[in-house]
Amino acid sequence: MKMGQVILVGAGPGDPGLLTIKGRQAIESAEVVVYDRLVSPAILDMIPPDAERINVGKESSHHLVPQEGINQILLEKALEGKRVVRLKGGDPFLFGRGGEELELLAEHGVDFQEVPGITSAIAVPAYGGIPVTHRDYCSSVHIITGHQRAGKPLDIRFDALVKTGGTLVFLMGVAALENICRGLLEAGMDPDMPAAVVEKGTTPAQRPILATLSTLPDVAKEKQVKSPAIIIVGKVCSLSGQFDWFDKLPLKGKRVIVTRPKERAGTLSHRLRALGADVTEFPCIETVPYDPCTEMEQAVENIDGYEWLVFTSPAGVSALMDMLYRTGRDVRALGRIQLAAIGPGTDRELRKHGLHADLIPEVYDGAHLGQALCLKKPAGKVLILRAQWGTPALTDALDSCKIPYDDIRCYETRYTCPNSQQVRELVANDHAPIVTFTSASTVKGFTAALGNVDLSNITAACIGVQTEAEAKKHGLNTITAKKATIDALIQRIVEGD
Ligand code: SAH
Repeated sequence: MKMGQVILVGAGPGDPGLLTIKGRQAIESAEVVVYDRLVSPAILDMIPPDAERINVGKESSHHLVPQEGINQILLEKALEGKRVVRLKGGDPFLFGRGGEELELLAEHGVDFQEVPGITSAIAVPAYGGIPVTHRDYCSSVHIITGHQRAGKPLDIRFDALVKTGGTLVFLMGVAALENICRGLLEAGMDPDMPAAVVEKGTTPAQRPILATLSTLPDVAKEKQVKSPAIIIVGKVCSLSGQFDWFDKLPLKGKRVIVTRPKERAGTLSHRLRALGADVTEFPCIETVPYDPCTEMEQAVENIDGYEWLVFTSPAGVSALMDMLYRTGRDVRALGRIQLAAIGPGTDRELRKHGLHADLIPEVYDGAHLGQALCLKKPAGKVLILRAQWGTPALTDALDSCKIPYDDIRCYETRYTCPNSQQVRELVANDHAPIVTFTSASTVKGFTAALGNVDLSNITAACIGVQTEAEAKKHGLNTITAKKATIDALIQRIVEGD
């Protein structure tokens, strides 16, 4: 029988960008993923669709699977021959009970590996502007659990800790915060020692709170600090005001819903997150190439009859390349035809296939593309490969200068709504979410998926005028990029209303 394997993977402290490359590779090749409450949804999205997901930290029902149960699940799945990933917040071996999970596996001779993660103990202070060591302030850092068993005193040697003069980092300490601070004071620490709590660190909801050892419990109570949070005590906390880079990001905490098709959402989401935004991906459309697409095949057979080949989206390029491959051909079938792309995104897709657009209009929309082609005064026909809902602006422009063309539909745009309930709740509860629209069809997909939800509090961030016009038709408040590029769209979102 094939023996499975368990890989214990540290998922990092919250920001999905802090997952390691090795961790990501393990998740992407997993057959079963057993995960905890603190793992970010963007990381869970990396799990292959056909892999089994087991949530052992369901917050909603407060029904945690006990540790022995988790150990047992890992063992059973491995004995079934599965490649199992055990995903844990932060680093699996730092107050993560990773060691306990390996014991049973070791006893049964199950193959395992451990992929360390970025621990919240260091990353959360860092995102709060606190370097855990600094040569001018300390020569050690100590990581302590503040977890207090019911009815028992804290099992911490405060006197020893105070003597080190090092930075003290407490995990799981929110409930015991008052006792921790009292313990340190009684052991002789200076009441004015800088101290901080960083709540939900490295996430868009991060809240850093600065105080001193004597004032921290009251300040934290007043601000209603909740778990997960990290307590930091030491002179390094005084640097926070100077180094607090994360909370100063231009989109920090701003809710943004990204509506691109899944395969194209990556860059936009990633860049919005890097600016501090709280991004939810809502791939409410998908593009599906026609297979077979006889019209496109015939056009390629007669490619010499055309002078220009025109694409209005990266999906058109992919549909053509898929068809060439499927029918045993490759780009050489395109001969010496000239290529026009609606904008840089489509040109980038061409570049993936070793091609280069000969023409990109100055303004990236159908009307300007048509006008730019007119200026080229082609003697031969134009071949347009695009979606079934292509804008008439392109063909109107060609008609007006009497250029002959074939307008072939090579893919269709379908509406999907994988997580529409979650998005409905976001739209209803968040006070002013931004929704990005990179085409008129994303507007149609979004409004169709949400049904009759009140959309008056959202701001539709549109990539261009056609998208804006579609959004206005649905009564949305809009802001529009100055140029139809992802860069300009992000710029517009940062500028705000
Ligand atoms: N293995 C984890 C720690 C698990 S113990 C790691 O290496 O990070 C759980 C504690 O970690 C929480 O009580 C809290 O103190 C801390 N923690 C985890 N994620 C956090 C976050 N995003 N912000 C603040 N504290 C966090």
